[in-house]
Amino acid sequence: MLAHGRSYLAIPGPSVVPDRVLRAMHRASPDIYEGEIVDLTETLIPSLRALAGTRHQAAIYIGNGHASWEASLVNVLSRGDKVLVPICGHFGRGWAGVASDLGAEVEVIDFGPTSPIDPARVEDALRADRDHRIKAVLAVHVDTSTSVRSDIAALRRALDAVGHPALLMADCVASLGCDRFEMDAWGADVMIAASQKGLMCPPGLCFVWFNDRAAQARKAAGLVTPYWDWTGRANPDAFWRYWFGTAPAQALYGLREALDMIEEEGPERVWARHATLARAVWAACEAWGQGGPLRFNVPDPQARSHAITALSLDPGQADALRRWTKDNTGVTLGIGLGREPADAFFRIGHMGHVNAHMVLGVLATIEAGLQALKIPHGTGALAAAAGVVAAA
Ligand SMILES: *Cc1c(COP(=O)(O)O)cnc(C)c1O
Repeated sequence: MLAHGRSYLAIPGPSVVPDRVLRAMHRASPDIYEGEIVDLTETLIPSLRALAGTRHQAAIYIGNGHASWEASLVNVLSRGDKVLVPICGHFGRGWAGVASDLGAEVEVIDFGPTSPIDPARVEDALRADRDHRIKAVLAVHVDTSTSVRSDIAALRRALDAVGHPALLMADCVASLGCDRFEMDAWGADVMIAASQKGLMCPPGLCFVWFNDRAAQARKAAGLVTPYWDWTGRANPDAFWRYWFGTAPAQALYGLREALDMIEEEGPERVWARHATLARAVWAACEAWGQGGPLRFNVPDPQARSHAITALSLDPGQADALRRWTKDNTGVTLGIGLGREPADAFFRIGHMGHVNAHMVLGVLATIEAGLQALKIPHGTGALAAAAGVVAAA
């Protein structure tokens, strides 16, 4: 009854697409051989580089985040190459699975679903690899399933401490445009992202940034195929080579608009907004947890993403809460992903085009759901969240 009105998809991707981005995309196809779309594309690469914190190269693909997993791997690996994958959830496991299916030998270190990558254990594994069989370390910056955020710069220090030449590859699909990430300063050789999370666009575009070491590895990569080769895309000798075919024109207008919005606000302020809104969410959750079963999936706030918060209730309650907020308030919360029992977990997406009234609204609908479903919970959650916003 109270769900009519503007709905809110508060899941960790796809995220809310701003009206500006939707309007920018709503137009007829342009000439794809010359003019506006060619000029626009040339502005995208510098913006994408700046956002990633790199002076190196970037390739854009028509694909989702899974496509960027494959694109990044086939450009640097040959069949039988070994990769090391520290895992903190469903997405780390997924990237490892793609590497394995492509024919790589995969060594996994599983840190469980509630804590970040421990660089010391990665360092031990690298030290044990005396003949340098490991060609790449695949690390997810923010694992969206668990909301665990790992320290990518610390992994670079681990590689350097043992003088290991493996590439450091970072999955920033859920963190780019939400949590601070600085590819060059933090020492990532390859970085990947997709359009539909912090970048506020519909799904359909993904990105691979790579530095000179990765470009060097490309020369020996036996897995590469024509479509996924990043060489021509990053250094096109003709416009179609950016895309290896027809340019995804409407998606590019949308991306340009989204990047303009991020540049207008400024990346530092974008990161600060996500950090403050995350603290508002956490303040409410902390209060609810004082008087009932609600718990953070990640106990340590330092290891939590600023874009998404994974939470647990008693079995069945999380599914009931999601159903209730969707049917009664127009808010769709994220499912429990990669955790068992799945119906005890849910996630709040607070990524991208999100402001204080949206987050406070989501929290208030959760409060209403906890009341309606008679799920025990502590008091003062909304006041605590409002307090964070008031003090910002
Ligand atoms: C969403 C996500 C992916 C997968 O993206 P799809 O677009 O669903 O293929 C990969 N890694 C992370 C960290 C993600 O959040």
